[in-house]
Amino acid sequence: MSFEALGLSSEVLRAVTEEGYDTPTPIQQAAIPLVLSGVDVMASAQTGTGKTAGFTLPMLQRLSLSERPVRGRKGPPPVRALVLTPTRELAAQIAESVSTYGKYLQIRSAVVFGGVSINPQISQLRKGVDILIATPGRLLDHAGQNTVDLSRLEILVLDEADRMLDMGFIHDVKRVLALLPESAQRQNLLFSATFSKDIKQLAGRMLNDPQLVEVAPQNATADRIEQQVHLVDKSRKRELLSRMIRDEDWRQVLVFTRTKHGANRLAEQLSKEGLSAAAIHGNKSQGARTRALAGFKEGKLRVLVATDIAARGLDIDQLPNVVNFELPNVPEDYVHRIGRTARAGLSGKAVSLVCVDEAKLLRDIEKLIRRELPRIHIEGFDVDPSIKAEPIRKTSKPTPGPGQGRGRRSRDRNAGKKPPVGAQASASRGASRRRRGA
Ligand code: AMP
Repeated sequence: MSFEALGLSSEVLRAVTEEGYDTPTPIQQAAIPLVLSGVDVMASAQTGTGKTAGFTLPMLQRLSLSERPVRGRKGPPPVRALVLTPTRELAAQIAESVSTYGKYLQIRSAVVFGGVSINPQISQLRKGVDILIATPGRLLDHAGQNTVDLSRLEILVLDEADRMLDMGFIHDVKRVLALLPESAQRQNLLFSATFSKDIKQLAGRMLNDPQLVEVAPQNATADRIEQQVHLVDKSRKRELLSRMIRDEDWRQVLVFTRTKHGANRLAEQLSKEGLSAAAIHGNKSQGARTRALAGFKEGKLRVLVATDIAARGLDIDQLPNVVNFELPNVPEDYVHRIGRTARAGLSGKAVSLVCVDEAKLLRDIEKLIRRELPRIHIEGFDVDPSIKAEPIRKTSKPTPGPGQGRGRRSRDRNAGKKPPVGAQASASRGASRRRRGA
């Protein structure tokens, strides 16, 4: 199937062709005609499936074909379409896609998120914005100051709805919904990787008679990813990682750690060894995060170390390698993490460094993805049989993520604390808890 067959206008098709896309992805094939027809859509799709273009292309087209509402005498001109996303990085990426795909249309877009000055956002909103991409906290700040008018909204997109709820944004989302016209008077699109009970409840509140789009099973992205497990002692993970980066000549790698403190420490250690590395997590300033991400995207950094929430939705072109320096507490996060590679049809490699503590987490992941991951052994990295496992705390209370403004960011209680000496699996339970606490 071609993009032409989906009913897209020549202006939109021109932008798509310039991006080098020739075939719509399955989510695009299913979602674009539905969104163009004006119905509500509830779609199950992960990042990496092309879902952004799946809602952005038809949204741009619909807005370009209808009249702008007349501006009221007071306040900013009404926003016509709102894309709500959980993180700042995702918001910035969607905004970039909207500009790219809409470059031959007279559609104005803007992005608002916390952590940066509100004033330039206010002046942009005052000039008039057709499509606003926003994280919930900063959007509510604007609503509180009457610098945004959502009362005439025509299209609402809730992106990564599951992550939005995981990050504790449900109340903010409900507050935003209360600022919009009746749900029947707007088109509503909800995208989520999973459909939990909570998501279905939210969908019931937000969508009218939605069309369901379900293209990829949970782990479909994983099929093109070469996945490996290296069993290794905790204290030797960093050494093994640097060895693999050098010996296998990895051009770039995104490394996941469980804690912010762990991310900082690993990035520092790798830098000292001469590998260009930076960390990205919720305690870093927006400027530092943007710089690290830009440096990585431009190829100036070879290693980007990230926590789950910071990495959520990152779209890095042709990322060849992902490493789980520590396995995630929640097995679904494994699928999200490795989905950072092998995007849009490319292949990729995902390596998990697993110590004895993490055996149970590994079993849970293998159960979820319904396959046993191959164990790879690298000479010189034998596991010390005298090291005993400690149970890993299962509760992973999500820390407020990078999408939040308004001072809601939690402090990393571990930041600045010295890590336990010789961080071995046999260290005391208290020390181990501290290591995992962020
Ligand atoms: P997304 O799932 O929206 O984050 O998109 C993942 C990646 O796929 C992005 O880098 C897009 O630029 C790319 N992409 C989206 N649609 C297509 C397509 N039809 N053909 C090739 N690449 C695409």
